[in-house]
Amino acid sequence: MSGMRPTGRLHLGHYFGALINWIDFQSKYESYFSIVDWHALTTKQNTREVKANIWEIALDWLAVGIDPEQSTIYVQSAIPEIAELHLLFSMITPQGWVEREPTLKDMVKMLAANEAEAHEKATYGLFGYPILMTADILTFKGELVPVGKDQESHLEFARDVARKFNNTYGVSYFPEPKPEFTATPLLKGVDGLKMGKSYNNDIKIADTAADTEKKVKQMITDRTRIAKSDPGHTDICEVPWPMYKVFADQDLQATVKQECENAEIGCVQCKIRLAGIINEKFAPFRERREQLAKDPDNVFKLLQHGNIKARKVAKQTLHDVREIMGMVNWESLK
Ligand code: ATP
Ligand code: MG
Repeated sequence: MSGMRPTGRLHLGHYFGALINWIDFQSKYESYFSIVDWHALTTKQNTREVKANIWEIALDWLAVGIDPEQSTIYVQSAIPEIAELHLLFSMITPQGWVEREPTLKDMVKMLAANEAEAHEKATYGLFGYPILMTADILTFKGELVPVGKDQESHLEFARDVARKFNNTYGVSYFPEPKPEFTATPLLKGVDGLKMGKSYNNDIKIADTAADTEKKVKQMITDRTRIAKSDPGHTDICEVPWPMYKVFADQDLQATVKQECENAEIGCVQCKIRLAGIINEKFAPFRERREQLAKDPDNVFKLLQHGNIKARKVAKQTLHDVREIMGMVNWESLK
């Protein structure tokens, strides 16, 4: 089980940090992939953008090869049972656990210009993020969670909550979910910080070739290299070199390293070549995305189909949870 927030179109970090595992796992495991729109509300005040972004994410997923025949693809807010489980979990989760979450502190820092703004943006809902994420996973009794590195602490949190639930009620009902990382669990954006949709530093899966090149040209390279005739240092090249390691084969990597370190190529030229490789890799996805975008009804039908499948599972889980906790299962009362 895994999810993404509808806060904008997806970027290369999503692809290399998570989606390549999703594509691999969907033929091996029973997979649930969720567009987590309630999570978008934790940092976005403009709720009206969320609907359009659900559509954008669905297009990105389908374009790169997430297959609705193999996986259950659904939207979080179509499954109210997740919200119920979030509430039930919040009753057994100590407040101290959420307050020490490092990822949330980073999110607030990135979003706020100053102390006062940070205070304003650190809402009750934002601090509930890891509890909601736990509910997302455990509604489907998720065991493996393919995510990027920034989610690692949330997964530890989810395991703590699963254990706390099982211990509190003397059951072994929920599995303790584990993260699964790719070889690139944290891809950097053009500014050298984590590539994020909300941080204005990303290259989108759906960007045009020209936009991609423009963004790649902004990438921070070796800060010590002033003139083209200075030898470069790949080990301190901040963004292009790590990107080459993701996109280029061993031979090309060796060439780039040699040309850079012998000052045979300038950073601008090197980045233009990198943009070319990125564009080549993503061209088929971009083309498929354009085709899919022509038929909105079809995309919404696929999501609705997934919602129905997911809801069935969610209803069963919540039925079990209410039984375990000794609550009333009102729907089953005659
Ligand atoms: P936002 O900035 O709105 O939080 P995001 O880019 O962080 O957006 P999310 O929807 O929060 O995207 O994350 C979806 C998934 O993609 C998570 O598993 C996350 O760990 C992974 N992911 C996001 N950015 C990166 C990145 N730069 N490198 C690797 N994985 C990433
Ligand atoms: Mg994020």
